[in-house]
Amino acid sequence: MHPFEYVEATDPAAAIHAAGEGAQSVFFAGGTTLIDLMKLDVMTPAKLVDVNHLPFSSIEEQPDGILIGANVRNSDLAHHATIREQYPVLSEALLAGASAQLRNMASTGGNLLQRTRCTYFRDINSACNKRQPGSGCDAITGVNRMHAILGTSDYCIATHPSDMCVALVALDAVIHTQMHNGTKRQIPITEFYLLPGETPERETVLNRAELITHVHLPANPMARRSHYLKVRDRASYEFALASAAVALETKGQTITRASVALGGVGTVPWRSKEAEAALTGKPAERVTFEAAADAALAPAKPQHHNAFKIELAKRTLVLALEELMARSF
Ligand SMILES: Cc1cc2nc3c(=O)[nH]c(=O)nc-3n(C[C@H](O)[C@H](O)[C@H](O)COP(=O)(O)OP(=O)(O)OC[C@H]3O[C@@H](n4cnc5c(N)ncnc54)[C@H](O)[C@@H]3O)c2cc1C
Ligand code: SF4
Repeated sequence: MHPFEYVEATDPAAAIHAAGEGAQSVFFAGGTTLIDLMKLDVMTPAKLVDVNHLPFSSIEEQPDGILIGANVRNSDLAHHATIREQYPVLSEALLAGASAQLRNMASTGGNLLQRTRCTYFRDINSACNKRQPGSGCDAITGVNRMHAILGTSDYCIATHPSDMCVALVALDAVIHTQMHNGTKRQIPITEFYLLPGETPERETVLNRAELITHVHLPANPMARRSHYLKVRDRASYEFALASAAVALETKGQTITRASVALGGVGTVPWRSKEAEAALTGKPAERVTFEAAADAALAPAKPQHHNAFKIELAKRTLVLALEELMARSF
């Protein structure tokens, strides 16, 4: 591990100022991604700006939705009564992630910015365009069973690893940030992540030293009828091979509105407008769900070891929709 400076920020402006000084400064929340990567020499910041004492630890119910502070821990968010009742997909996604101990440390802001679990990214002896732009991508010719099949490029095929973010995409969450000059931004999560393209090192639209302060969940009656299903190699402490976050509104047996996002298969948390279109106006039955799954995976581009993910993701989405419909509301 390289030596680094540690700064405890007491207010947002001071945190942003401290992180803006020098190109190698980063925010530090739960540390469950950052410290891991520092130990591996994948990230070598010269300064850590601790944001844990900033006033972003509350979950506020507002007339137009819920405002979640960036420092709210994943476990607190998952167990919050209103989140469990009105946004079950988010509670379920959080509880499907990592382990209880990690969820107690992991913050909302840090989860949004967790890095890929691509083994070549985490090994400084491998070629990786994301870690070292222009060096190549060992995953494309290597072992790529865990990698993405949607949104890939010739430069990077890494999967976005978060469960929480898949649910946030299905819920149309909005990310609130603050910048150097005091400017604040509200960024829809569907516009927050960048596809790898030729610049996989740029993962989000955030500017340097831009601080995430909150995540807003818009009020949405459909969110009450939502569900997250995650499929993985073992039942706990494992990232998704495929996952689905779904929400449905029905009138009688007809689907009037749908929201669908996929995890474990995309280079970003993947919203499927194609699946939503295939569901809307159709009867809520298996044949409709299968058509939606076919539509969602139509653009998939498999690598040597992960073609199985196409069928797995389809079945995951169908089962998530069936499980959701089987619940009583
Ligand atoms: C063994 C293991 C298993 C895991 N399994 C899963 C899993 O199954 N599913 C899953 O979804 N996740 C999983 N995770 C990832 C875990 O959810 C993340 O590590 C965690 O959410 C990151 O939050 P943090 O607060 O610890 O972030 P940190 O490590 O503190 O920070 C992560 C990044 O976010 C930046 N950052 C933090 N806060 C802010 C802010 N307010 N504004 C701007 N930037 C900020 C930091 O600079 C850093 O780049 C796992 C992690 C481990 C170690
Ligand atoms: S898939 Fe992306 S993160 Fe993994 S080695 Fe290739 S460029 Fe790096």
